[in-house]
Amino acid sequence: MVKIIDPLRLHILFVEDDEDDYFLFQELLDEIEGTQFELTWVSSFDAAFHEIQQNQHDVCLCDYQLGARNGIDLLKEKVALGYTIPMIMLTGQDCREIDLEAMQAGAADYLVKGSISPGLLDRSIRYAVNHARTLAALREREEQYMLVAQAANDGLWDWNVQTLEVYFSARWKSMIGYTEQELTASMDEWLDRIHLEDRDRFQAELQAHLQGQTPAFEIQYRIQHKDGLYRWVNSRGLAFRGTEGQVVRIAGSQTDLTHHVALYDQLTGLPSRVLFLEQLKRALSRVKREPNYRFAVLFLDCDRFKVVNDSLGHHIGDRLLVAIAQRLEQLLRPGDVISRLGGDEFAILTENMHSLFEVETIARRLNKELEKPFALEGNTVYTSASIGISFNSETTLNPEDLLRDADNAMYRAKALGKSQYTVFASEMRDRVQSRLQIETDLRAALDRHEFYLHYQPIVSLETGMLRGLEALIRWQHPQKGLISPTEFIPIAEETGLIVPIGDWVLCQACQQLQEWRNAFPGTEFLSVSVNLSRKQLSQPNLATNIQRVLVQNQLSPHNLKLEITETMIMDDEEAAKTILMNLKALGFQIQIDDFGTGYSSLSFLQNFPLNTLKIDRSFVWALDSNTERHEIVQSIVMLAHNLGMTAIAEGVETPEQLQRLRDFKCDLAQGYLLAKPLPTEGVEALLASMRPLPVSVA
Ligand code: C2E
Ligand code: MG
Ligand code: MG
Repeated sequence: MVKIIDPLRLHILFVEDDEDDYFLFQELLDEIEGTQFELTWVSSFDAAFHEIQQNQHDVCLCDYQLGARNGIDLLKEKVALGYTIPMIMLTGQDCREIDLEAMQAGAADYLVKGSISPGLLDRSIRYAVNHARTLAALREREEQYMLVAQAANDGLWDWNVQTLEVYFSARWKSMIGYTEQELTASMDEWLDRIHLEDRDRFQAELQAHLQGQTPAFEIQYRIQHKDGLYRWVNSRGLAFRGTEGQVVRIAGSQTDLTHHVALYDQLTGLPSRVLFLEQLKRALSRVKREPNYRFAVLFLDCDRFKVVNDSLGHHIGDRLLVAIAQRLEQLLRPGDVISRLGGDEFAILTENMHSLFEVETIARRLNKELEKPFALEGNTVYTSASIGISFNSETTLNPEDLLRDADNAMYRAKALGKSQYTVFASEMRDRVQSRLQIETDLRAALDRHEFYLHYQPIVSLETGMLRGLEALIRWQHPQKGLISPTEFIPIAEETGLIVPIGDWVLCQACQQLQEWRNAFPGTEFLSVSVNLSRKQLSQPNLATNIQRVLVQNQLSPHNLKLEITETMIMDDEEAAKTILMNLKALGFQIQIDDFGTGYSSLSFLQNFPLNTLKIDRSFVWALDSNTERHEIVQSIVMLAHNLGMTAIAEGVETPEQLQRLRDFKCDLAQGYLLAKPLPTEGVEALLASMRPLPVSVA
C-alpha cells in the first residue's frame, strides 16, 4: 500500500540527542511557509527504531551522532528490513566521507547543521518525500502488473507458512483438471501430486529459497493431472519475510509447459528433443546415486512414412504422426517419457529396467502394435516402426551418447527389413567412427589435392552431338580409395566444408572448360554444369563469386549451368527466389536436378526463373517397363516445353529408354549408355574426334 501523504502536513521523525539542536530545528521548520510540520522527537537509537516500525512518519531527520550506534547504522537497519521512510542525515561538521557513506547506505540527503537555512531544509524535505512516494508507487505498479500478467494464464498460489494454509487460484486448479471447489487448502494437495522422481528436487528447491540461499524459487517438474497423466509445469515463487527476516508467506505462479514451443512438439504435444534430453540427464544423475539403476532408450523411426506423405499428402502424414503418438502413449507406462524428435522419429525413455528381456518385450509389442492399420479420415494407412535400443551403463556420461547409440541401432534394424528392433552393440559405434574419420579427412582433402573432377557428356537427342558436360567430383582417399560423392557430399554439407569444396569445383570446371575451348576449335558453344549444394546457395556472395570465376577464365554466363534440386528451393521459397533471380539476371542458366523426386507442382515451378528440368533417373528407368510412369516422363517434357524450358533425361542406360525419350521429344540426355562420367583424357579424346554419339537406334 502507498501511504497517502498530505503535502501540506508532514510528519517528521526527529532523531537528535542534543536538546538545543532540537529547538533550533523547530525554529527552522516554523519559518518554512505553506507546510505544517508535526515533529516527533526521540533521542536514542532504540527509540528511533521503535518509531520507524510504527510507520507513522513521512520523513526522518537523523543526527549522525547517536551514542554507541550512529545514524548510518539506523539507516542501514531500516533499509535492510524494508522500511521505506526517507532519511535525511544531519552532522555537526562537513565531512565528505560521512556524506558518501550516507548516500551509499540510501540516505535521501546529507545536511551540515550550522549551515542550514529554512529554504534548504524545505527543499531537502520535499525532495526526500517526493522521491520516496515515486518509488513506492512504482513498486506497487510493478506488483500489480506482475499479478495481472500472471493471472492471465498462470495459476497463482500463496502459502502462509505460519498457518500452513495454501491458497490455490482457480487457474492453478484447472491446470490439473480440478474445479475451484475441489482440493483443500493444504500443501499436501500439492506435494502428493508431484511425480515421485521430481519430489525431492522440489522440496530441496523450496527449502533453499526459504532459507534465503536462492533469490527466488523456480522449478520445472511433473504434476499429476486429474486424468492420471503427468503434465510439465514451471513453478516460481518468492518468500515474504517479517521484521526479523523470518518467512511469513511464500507466493508465486505456476505455468503449464504443455504448449511451450521449445519443450513440446506442437503437432503431437509430446515432449521435444530438448525435454527428452533433460529427462535422460535426470535419469543419468540417478545412476550416480544408484550405480545399478538401468534404463533404456528406444529410438523409433517409421517405415514407409515418406510414402504415406507423398501419396496421401502432408495433412494425412501429420494425422498419422499424431495417431502414432497416441498409440505409443497407450502402450507405455505412465512414467515412460515419449518424445517426438522430429520428422517421423520418436524416442522413448523407459526406466527401472531389470533385464534385456524386459526391454525387448516392449520393443516387440511396439513393433506389433504399430503394424496394425490406422484409420485416418477415411483412409486405411499401414506403417510400422524400426526400433533401436540403447542402455545406460556405469560409464555412460551424457544423454546425447545414449540417444545416438539408439539411433545407430535403429539403422541396423532398418537394414534388417521393416518392423524390426536391434539392441545397440559397441561395434555400431564404428559407423559413427568412420563418419568422424571422413569428416577429419575431408578437412585436409582440399589441401592435399585429393579431389578431381569427372565430366559426363550431355548429348542432343536430335543430333547426337555433344552439348555440354556435367562436372562430378571424385575423392581419392589415401587409404580408403575412391569415395563416392553421395557418401561425402552430405558430410561436407553438414560441416560447412562444402563451401570451399564447391568453390574449388566451380573454379576447376571453368578453368578446364576454357582450356578445352581453346584447344579444340568448334567447341565454343560447350557448357559445363556444376552442382550447387544447399549451403552454397545461401552464401550471400555466391553470384559475385561465380562472376569472378567466369571473368578469370574469359567465359560468358551461358557457358555455365547451375544445378540445384527441388528441395533446395522448397526449403525457403522466398529466399531461393531472390537468389535465383539474381543469378538469372547475371545470365546464368539454372537447372533443376533430380526433377520429380520432390513435390513441386506446375504453379510452383512457374514462380521461379528456371531454364532446364533434369528428369530424375528413377523415371527414366521406369521407361523400360510398360507402366503409367511413361506418361509422367512425357508430361514432364511437355511441362518443361510449355514453360519455355529444356528437358534433360539423366541416367539413360538402355536403347529402349533412349528411344522413348526421343519419341517424347526430350531435348537432351545423359547416361551410361551414351557416356559414363569421364576423366579429362576421356573428354579430350571425344572432343578430338567430335563425332556424334549414337543416339539413334537403327
Ligand atoms: P547428380 O547431380 O544427379 O549426378 C548424376 C549422378 O548419376 C552421377 O553420380 C553420375 O555418375 C550418375 N549417373 C550418370 N549416368 C548414369 C547412369 O546411366 N546410370 C546410373 N546408375 N548412374 C548414372 P555421382 O557422380 O556418383 O554423383 C552423385 C551425386 O553427387 C550427384 O548427383 C550430385 O548430386 C552429387 N555431386 C557430384 N559432384 C558434386 C559436386 O561437385 N558438388 C555437389 N554439391 N554435389 C555433387
Ligand atoms: Mg547433377
Ligand atoms: Mg541428378
